[in-house]
Amino acid sequence: MSNVPKLFGDLVFNETVMKEKLPTATYKAYKAALLTGKNLDLPIANVIANAMKDWALEKGATHFTHWFQPMTGITAEKHESFITPTADGRIIMDFSGKELIQGEPDASSFPSGGLRATFEARGYTAWDPTSYAFIKDNTLCIPTAFCSYTGEVLDKKTPLLRSMSAIDVAARRILDLFGTPTEKVITTVGPEQEYFLVDKAMWEKRRDLVYTGRTLLGAMPPKGQEMEDHYFGIIKPRVMAFMQELDEELWKLGVLAKTEHNEVAPAQHELAPIFTSTNIATDHNHLTMEFMKRVAAKHNLVCLLHEKPFAGVNGSGKHNNWSIGTAEGDNLLNPGSEPHKNTRFLLFLAAILKAVDEYQDLLRVSVASAGNDHRLGANEAPPAIVSAFLGSELTAILEAIEKGEEYNSDGEKLMQIGGNVIPLFAQDTTDRNRTSPFAFTGNKFEFRMLGSAFSISGPNIVLNTIVAEELEQFADIIEKAADKETAIKALIKETITAHKRIIFNGDGYTDAWVEEAKMRGLLNLKSTPEAIPCMLAKKNIELFTKHSIFTEAEIHARTEILLENYAKTIRIEGLCLAEMIAKDLLPSASAAASDLAATIANKKMAGLDVEGTYELETVKKITALSTALCQKVAGLEKALSEAATVEGGEELANYYHENVFSAMLDIRAAADELEPMISEKYLTYPTYGQLLFGVN
Ligand code: ADP
Ligand code: MG
Repeated sequence: MSNVPKLFGDLVFNETVMKEKLPTATYKAYKAALLTGKNLDLPIANVIANAMKDWALEKGATHFTHWFQPMTGITAEKHESFITPTADGRIIMDFSGKELIQGEPDASSFPSGGLRATFEARGYTAWDPTSYAFIKDNTLCIPTAFCSYTGEVLDKKTPLLRSMSAIDVAARRILDLFGTPTEKVITTVGPEQEYFLVDKAMWEKRRDLVYTGRTLLGAMPPKGQEMEDHYFGIIKPRVMAFMQELDEELWKLGVLAKTEHNEVAPAQHELAPIFTSTNIATDHNHLTMEFMKRVAAKHNLVCLLHEKPFAGVNGSGKHNNWSIGTAEGDNLLNPGSEPHKNTRFLLFLAAILKAVDEYQDLLRVSVASAGNDHRLGANEAPPAIVSAFLGSELTAILEAIEKGEEYNSDGEKLMQIGGNVIPLFAQDTTDRNRTSPFAFTGNKFEFRMLGSAFSISGPNIVLNTIVAEELEQFADIIEKAADKETAIKALIKETITAHKRIIFNGDGYTDAWVEEAKMRGLLNLKSTPEAIPCMLAKKNIELFTKHSIFTEAEIHARTEILLENYAKTIRIEGLCLAEMIAKDLLPSASAAASDLAATIANKKMAGLDVEGTYELETVKKITALSTALCQKVAGLEKALSEAATVEGGEELANYYHENVFSAMLDIRAAADELEPMISEKYLTYPTYGQLLFGVN
C-alpha cells in the first residue's frame, strides 16, 4: 500500500486543505462560526464554495451533491454537475455559496410519518459545516441537514446536532461551577461495526438474503461457532484483501478505521474506528457501511449488515462507545487514578446513571427494530432490560458515598504475567462484562444494544439529550446553593441512592436477572411493537420539546415511521418466506421424493421388498413434512392478507408480531426439519454450511 499518512484524508476538504485554499480571513470566519454555531454570511460561503469546487475539480470531480440522512436510516444524495452555460454557448464549472448552503430535493418520497403530504413536496437541505465535505464517485459530497418547506425536521442529523448543542450548554454550566470553564463540550463516539461476508454467487441464489438481508430458513450445518475458533482467528486471504481495500478507501475519506478482526460466528467480522465527535462519527459510520458493501462487491462478496443473518450463530451489533469531553480533548468521564476524590467525574457519573434510569424506555426505543429483536434478550447480545455496569471499584466508591463512609482505594494493581521479559502493566479498574447493555469501560460508556444496520444517530440523540437534561437539573440546583461544594456532594449522594437500581454488575443472560430486574422495577420491553409506543410517554415528549430536539408532531411522526417500518419489514419477510417455500423448498422436496418413488417402483418391479427401506421411509417423511409445510404456508398467506383489515400503526405492528412473525417461526421449524433430508443436488439455494464456510 502507498504512503498511508499521505493517503489519509486525500478526498476530504479538511482543516489542512482549508488552511491552504482559503484566504485567512475566510478561514477564521469559518472557524468562528463553528464555535458560536452562527450562520455563515453568503459572501464567505461564496469564497468557501469556490475553493471547494477548485479543489474538487483538481481531484477529478464533475458533480456535487447535498449528502443527507433521511429517516430511511441510510443516506441519500441527488447529484448535480458543476456545469454552467456561458453566453457564447460553452460551459464553465461553477459552484456558488448558495448552492453550498442550501439545496432543494423533493421531500415527498422520503418517510415523514404523515408530516408531509405528497403534494407538499418541497424540502430543503442545509450545509452542516461541522462535518467536512468529501469526494465520492467523482462527486463533491456536502454533509447536510434535511427539513421540509414548513421547517419540520425530516432527517437524523438535525436532531443529533441539536442534542449535541443541548449537552454542550448543560455541561459547560457544570464545568463553570467547578471553576474549569471551557469554550465547547462535545460528545465523542467510537462505533464498533460488526458484519458478515458471504460469497456473492451464493447470495444471489437466496431470495431471503436478496429481499430481506437475512436467511428466513436453513438448517444448522454440523459445525457452527461452538469451537470458538473464528473469534480473532487468522483472516482468510479473500477477506484480508477486502479488509485492506476497505481500510484504504476509508482512510482516503478521513475515516479513522483502526481495528479489523474476525468475530465469534463463522463469516463474521468487525471494524472499529478511532473515536471522534458524535456528528462526524455518525457520518463516518454511514460511509463505513456503504463502503463495506461496495468493496465487498469488488471481491465477489456480499456484506450483510443485518442484525441476524443466520439463526443458530451470533448476530451483529454495533457497540456505541460514548463519552463527553472538552474541545481541547479533556475527557470528562476519565475517573483518574483516584476516582473517589474526583468530584467532577462523580457528578457526571451520577447524572448519567440518573439519565439511564429515568429514560430506560427511550434508550430501548432507540435500538428497537425488527432485525434487532432477534438479538436483544437472546443471550448473544445484551438483554432487552436496560441497566448499567460500573465494575467493582466504582460500585464500591458509590456504595461508600451512599453510606457516608470513607472509601479506601487498594491502589493501582500491577499485572505480573510471568517471565522477566514481559513488561508489567497496570490492570484496568474495570473488567469486561459482555452481557451489560451500558457498560463503563474505563473512560467511556459502551452502549451495546445497537443493531449492526442502525444509524447511530438515534441512540446518540437520546444519550446526549437525557444526559443534558440531568446536567441541567444539577446545574439549576448547584447554582442556587450558597455552599456549592456541600450541595454537589449531597446531590451525588441523593442521586446514587435514588437510582442505584439501574446498576447491575452481574450476568445479564440469566433468568435470575430477569426476575431481579422486575423486582427492581426495571422495564423489560421485549419486542419492537412493545417498545416504540413508549416514545410518546408524557415525560419523553416533555424532554424532547424542552430541549428543542423534536416538536410533539415530529415525535408522533417518528413513532409512526418506526411502527410502519416494523410492519413493512415483517410483511416483506412473510411474503418472501412463502415464496421461498413455494418456489424453492417444496419443488426441491418434490423432485427428491419423485426420484425416491421411482427407485421404489424399480425395486418393486425387480421383486424386492421395499418395506422399511431408506427410500420408502424417506419419501414418507418428505411427503408428510411437505404437506404440513404447504398447509402452514396457506395459514401464513391468510394472515398476510388479513393484515389489510387492521387499522392504526401500533395495532398493525402488533398484528404482524403476533400473527405473521409467529407463523414464520412455525414454518421455519418445519422447513429446517425437511431441508436436511434433501440432497444438495435438488436444492436451488446454498445451505447454511455453504454460506458460512464457503469463503476462502
Ligand atoms: P474494545 O471495546 O473492543 O476493547 P477499545 O477499548 O479499544 O475496544 O475501544 C473501542 C472503541 O471505543 C474504539 O472505537 C475507541 O476509539 C473508542 N473510544 C475510546 N475512547 C473513547 C472516548 N473517550 N469516547 C468515545 N469513544 C472512545
Ligand atoms: Mg467493545
